[in-house]
Amino acid sequence: MYKIIENSYDSFKENRIKERAFAYDLWLTLVEEWSNSPMLDVSEIGQTYEGKPIHQIKFGIGPIHICAWSQMHGDEATATMAIADILRLLSNTSEELLPFREKLHQNITLFILPRLNADGAERWTRETALGIDMNRDAIQKYSAEAKILSQWAQEIKPVFSFNLHDQHRLYSVGQTPHQTHIALLATTGDENGTWTESRLRAGKLANRLTKIAHSIYPNKIAKWTDEYNARAFGDYFQGQNFGLILLESGGASWDLEKQSLRKTNACLLLDALYAISNNEWQKEDISTYESLLTNERNIFDIKLTNAPLSKENKMARADIGLNIVEEFMDGKIHFAWTIEEIGDLQFFHGLTEMDASNYELYDHNNLKKGEPYSSVKMNEKGKVVFNLIEYTNKINK
Ligand SMILES: [Zn+2]
Repeated sequence: MYKIIENSYDSFKENRIKERAFAYDLWLTLVEEWSNSPMLDVSEIGQTYEGKPIHQIKFGIGPIHICAWSQMHGDEATATMAIADILRLLSNTSEELLPFREKLHQNITLFILPRLNADGAERWTRETALGIDMNRDAIQKYSAEAKILSQWAQEIKPVFSFNLHDQHRLYSVGQTPHQTHIALLATTGDENGTWTESRLRAGKLANRLTKIAHSIYPNKIAKWTDEYNARAFGDYFQGQNFGLILLESGGASWDLEKQSLRKTNACLLLDALYAISNNEWQKEDISTYESLLTNERNIFDIKLTNAPLSKENKMARADIGLNIVEEFMDGKIHFAWTIEEIGDLQFFHGLTEMDASNYELYDHNNLKKGEPYSSVKMNEKGKVVFNLIEYTNKINK
């Protein structure tokens, strides 16, 4: 089913959303449109600390209850973009993928809370307006948003639930040079990591999604460590029998706005809904999922080996790890470079790697760890052989 959905993606993609930090006004417009769709049922089920509405969007009349929520961390919007695509498809009344949509409509009821931490989303912070990390608030529920999420799920009692996040874009698949594009986790619901019925449901579905994701991004799929964290919603909900899958969007090379991962998210989630609606997930085991390596932090955007650190002193050399950093300003995400590490980086990888043994520093007297850089040029025999701006130009192209 995945391929069929993927081939139709351009027909249901919500083209008005172009980047992760899209405008709140646009979001309200989309919610309004979904409210007017005969296929969707939109209701305000609560408000954030600062009074922004939290909307539930419901689709289908089937007996199998499924929950999904996104952007519990305000600066993690890839899945929210995917949900906008999914809702565009599900609210469609045309012929596009009609048998697929009818199957879902009859067999499942899907409940979605998109952009849950709307206060954090607007300031582009992980935490809520009160500075609370919602995903460490599953038990105590200090935050209004955690209370709403918890009560909502308890009422629905989902057979499957999807906890949708973004992770740091420079996680690697184990110690390999591969950047994790997608990470999955069938969370554990207890200290011992027991494969309860709930976790096994999640594991089997994750197994299917792993196989599909591997076919799109070979070697670039990882799993999160399954260490139990009682305060995290994923672990807490698994303990409540909600069949919880954590789906994380990682990095995608120079696609920093993650439009490729957005598409994968949308198509993977739709495939998952289909596999739930016809019980295909039950045919899976968990071996492929179990064989995934865990996320590690082992890569830089650019790694220069034996690079010059000083213009004056030609002997001052070391490996350099350069990373792109994001800054949120005036409602937009801006990108800059920083030198993350200087030293012996032989056990680390770069998405771009270069042997800089013969390079000389050209436009700085020194390079320093932790400093922001917009330009770095290095020369060899009077010719510029490394120019950071060339890499800046690749971002989102
Ligand atoms: Zn997160």
